[in-house]
Amino acid sequence: KQLIIAIDGPASSGKSTVAKRIADQLNLIYVDSGAMYRTITYVAIKEHIDLTDEKKIVNALERVSIEFERTEEGQSVFCNNKEVTDDIRQNDVTNAVSIVAAHPLVREVLVDRQRKIAMKQNVIMDGRDIGTVVLPDASVKIFLVASVDERAERRYKENRQKGIKSDLTKLKQEISERDYKDSTRKVSPLRKADDAFEIDTTALSIDEVAEQIKKNIFE
Ligand code: C5P
Repeated sequence: KQLIIAIDGPASSGKSTVAKRIADQLNLIYVDSGAMYRTITYVAIKEHIDLTDEKKIVNALERVSIEFERTEEGQSVFCNNKEVTDDIRQNDVTNAVSIVAAHPLVREVLVDRQRKIAMKQNVIMDGRDIGTVVLPDASVKIFLVASVDERAERRYKENRQKGIKSDLTKLKQEISERDYKDSTRKVSPLRKADDAFEIDTTALSIDEVAEQIKKNIFE
């Protein structure tokens, strides 16, 4: 039987880090649904498309292929065969993605692609609506939360490791703003599925979170 794990939660709650680790340990395909929303946002910005113009964005999306490739450090993202792994993590994309992700037709296209990837293989997929909308029949559903302070702190450290200096107060603001937009949009807002297991990662290490999730998978 197929193993399908859905991980949802707000921005910077540790989803991708822990999902990658579990994917490695259990030999699953890791699908970063957020990277797909980021990629179309990146393309729209680059092509100077009005981000509120849903039709134009959907048109662009139809010309865009999004591919993942597993690497030593984690995962690379390719858009029409060009690597965009770092481009889609830039601030301009991060702060615009919630606008693009709120368009129902954009979601329709991407949800369809996400389901196709999960059709034939064992996957762990992270996002905002995986347990509720994309894969409601997932074998295991996890909802990760953490305090805004802790999430901003993690982002700050991550940036510092990459040599990027950031402002903690501003990070906190940006994270809260993205959470607000993602949880108040009309279509598929960020929400814990009724049958999801919630883990507060504020005081936990990545290993501790991974252990809790695995306990859930195998119990
Ligand atoms: O997970 P990540 O923070 O990279 O996601 C970027 C953005 O993509 C989110 O803030 C949200 O607006 C959107 N997203 C979404 N549904 C998903 C995954 C991400 O709307 N399943």
